[in-house]
Amino acid sequence: TYYDDPGFYHGGSNGPATPGETLHHRANATLLMLARNSELDGAVRSVREMEDRFNGKYRYPWVFLNEQPFSDEFKRRVSILVSGPVHFGQIPEEHWYQPHWINETRAKEERDKLEGEGVIYGGSQSYRNMCRFNSGFFYRHPLLQDFRYYWRVEPGVHFHCDVNFDPFVYMHENNKTYGFTITMYEFRRTIESLWSTVQDFVAEHPEYVAQNNAMDFLSDNGGADFNLCHFWSNFEIADMDFWRGEAYTAYFGYLDRTGGFYYERWGDAPVHSIAAALLAGTDRIQFFREIGYEHSPFTHCPAEKDLWERGRCTCDPVHSFDYNGYSCMPRWDRIEGRR
Ligand code: GDP
Ligand code: MN
Repeated sequence: TYYDDPGFYHGGSNGPATPGETLHHRANATLLMLARNSELDGAVRSVREMEDRFNGKYRYPWVFLNEQPFSDEFKRRVSILVSGPVHFGQIPEEHWYQPHWINETRAKEERDKLEGEGVIYGGSQSYRNMCRFNSGFFYRHPLLQDFRYYWRVEPGVHFHCDVNFDPFVYMHENNKTYGFTITMYEFRRTIESLWSTVQDFVAEHPEYVAQNNAMDFLSDNGGADFNLCHFWSNFEIADMDFWRGEAYTAYFGYLDRTGGFYYERWGDAPVHSIAAALLAGTDRIQFFREIGYEHSPFTHCPAEKDLWERGRCTCDPVHSFDYNGYSCMPRWDRIEGRR
């Protein structure tokens, strides 16, 4: 089995903490972290901040995934922090490792080339495993089957503001599929053939493209070229029904069969973003402006004074990434019709 007895590790009772406290109406959702045992300290800090800023009030469960078994120490140090149930799962081998049909000679050549060019993680095979897993497999894990929405959390990130509302309930009530806080440009060298693959897919399956798609966020010339804009997926609040659905399943399978996750270094960020923009569409995408979030070296900090104050934010809006030169936020604003 790929998961621990879910009844074993319980940080909280999942009921009212004090007599009379009413539990909020909640969505079918979980907090989700992929991590290595070696990232324990960073994982602990992320969990603590998430609990302090949001989850202490809402008590959503946590799911931790790893291709190795989590150490007892990892489980012990995380379990004391959480306010709801926590599950630690191992990833099935076939969801993680480079498939046998990938030509390893060619893959190695390409890794060496990217490494030689100084591309970040260019020579790493494990990074590619992670990107492919996050693109097309995490939502198939047995521990996630009972959940619809997830909030992706990485070790060592920061949540800078109180989250005084339930983003999962917001997603559900407003029919949202994908939520983000930071958007930027991808390194072209890591995704050389991704866009032409997407174009081929769309040509074969025009029926999957949303009416109100966000092509103009991804392309400045109506889809001829990818402008490299994508949502930074280390933060994601999203609906797994979308990833599990017919359109995304066809899309991921099409991309995967080209071997691009290994012959190039396709990230789950552009893969998810292109799908959200084209297959889900503009109305289904949510910019969570009130959620202060930092993944080094970038921070999204609410610029609106009322949001910043109400959130008791620890970030400085002056240093927010939103309108930095490398952000795609101005493009998103135009799509949403705010500018
Ligand atoms: P970056 O944000 O692109 O620099 O990549 P990270 O190193 O932060 O990795 C992204 C996420 O995948 C984080 O949650 C990591 O903990 C996780 N991760 C990356 N590589 C591995 C791995 O080999 N095994 C496991 N279990 N998790 C990994
Ligand atoms: Mn990271």
